[in-house]
Amino acid sequence: MEVKILGQKELNQAVKDAHFCTGCGACVNLCPYQAHYRDQIVMLHPCDLKEGGCYAFCPRTPTDLEALKKKLFDPEDLTPELGAVKGFYITRAADPKVRAKAQHGGTVTTLITLALQEGLIDTAILAEEGRNLLPRETTAQDADSAQKLSRSKFVVSPNVAEFNRIAKEGGKKIGIVATPCQALALAKMRMKPLKNYAERIDQLRLVIGIFCGWALSWKGLVEVLRKKIDLSEIEGMDIPPSKYHLLQLYTKKGTIDISLDEITSSVRGACWYCPDLTAEFSDLSVGSARLPEGWEVAKGWNQVIVRTSLGQRLLNLAKNRGLLEFREVPAENLPRLKTASLGKKRTAVKNLKLRSGDPKKLFYLDPDDPVLGAMAAGS
Ligand SMILES: Cc1cc2nc3c(=O)[nH]c(=O)nc-3n(C[C@H](O)[C@H](O)[C@H](O)COP(=O)(O)OP(=O)(O)OC[C@H]3O[C@@H](n4cnc5c(N)ncnc54)[C@H](O)[C@@H]3O)c2cc1C
Ligand code: SF4
Ligand code: SF4
Repeated sequence: MEVKILGQKELNQAVKDAHFCTGCGACVNLCPYQAHYRDQIVMLHPCDLKEGGCYAFCPRTPTDLEALKKKLFDPEDLTPELGAVKGFYITRAADPKVRAKAQHGGTVTTLITLALQEGLIDTAILAEEGRNLLPRETTAQDADSAQKLSRSKFVVSPNVAEFNRIAKEGGKKIGIVATPCQALALAKMRMKPLKNYAERIDQLRLVIGIFCGWALSWKGLVEVLRKKIDLSEIEGMDIPPSKYHLLQLYTKKGTIDISLDEITSSVRGACWYCPDLTAEFSDLSVGSARLPEGWEVAKGWNQVIVRTSLGQRLLNLAKNRGLLEFREVPAENLPRLKTASLGKKRTAVKNLKLRSGDPKKLFYLDPDDPVLGAMAAGS
């Protein structure tokens, strides 16, 4: 696949107008011409640059994912299903106060807090719950602030826009919590395809990826939920394993279950074309655990894929300091996660193939990619 760098006009045609935009924020805060409004990207002014960072870093412009993986990870760790895997763990925060406020086991909050305390990073980019369930990208400089920003927001938070904003200032050591599409945008920046932005990315010191099956469009979610509840009563939400087919709302009065049939139409369109479940371009990736005791126990734990030596060092430090608890990984967990990850890749490829009508035209995915291309060539 030919990977070219083009400009804002082509980005708009190939990504935004084609409804492939994930809302990651990578094209925002590079220049004055792109912005985000709610969970959408808007073009404020046309730009005639032939080669722009917006196009170069966008996770939905053509990318040679295989080449990127080989450059950023130890080739010996690469797996076709999950990208680089140095280690696979089940963990949770040792501190019950962190767990009580976290989405699952609080592993992300524990690791980002430790990275701040150790001086590995001085700024963490996280997502804050804004008004009416609309997340806001934000930063934390200390452990207390990072802990207040735990829990998942199921509408995209343009965290990469915040990276662009603060990296412009210079002199930072930045850590970020990123969805898979955001981690890919940052990986593309790490390749330094454009001189103007090359120094900024050196400030990125840590990427903690979160697993992501799909995100919800803010408008769609709010329309559905407003019919059921006053939004200010919602304290959090989760999507239990697929067999439950539910979105669960945590409210002051208890948990409300909503069938996914009511929610599916609110899934962000771009997510149906997304091939990455586990944030393959991160130092470590964290999702919910699966345990023999069932979801009620498992939801208090995380599954962690360590992908880089830095990720491994941070996890080991958290273990040695007694900040994370570990439990034995059931033998079936890694094969199951591989199957789930391949399932998401297959859906993305199938949907892209349906859009183009040609297995050799997969828009931003490479039809010669050994995993995705083979899926496209198959059924
Ligand atoms: C849209 C979305 C879809 C997900 N889908 C799955 C899935 O299919 N399977 C699965 O196993 N896990 C999924 N997760 C991940 C899961 O919800 C937890 O984030 C993960 O298990 C880590 O749990 P934790 O207790 O360690 O997180 P916490 O310690 O509570 O920390 C969560 C961190 O994520 C940050 N954050 C919250 N929302 C966002 C966001 N939208 N974008 C970027 N950063 C954010 C917070 O600021 C916080 O730092 C999804 C998360 C999101 C946001
Ligand atoms: S960089 Fe991200 S936000 Fe911008 S067009 Fe691409 S996917 Fe959308
Ligand atoms: S499903 Fe993919 S495109 Fe959608 S938010 Fe998650 S990582 Fe981004």
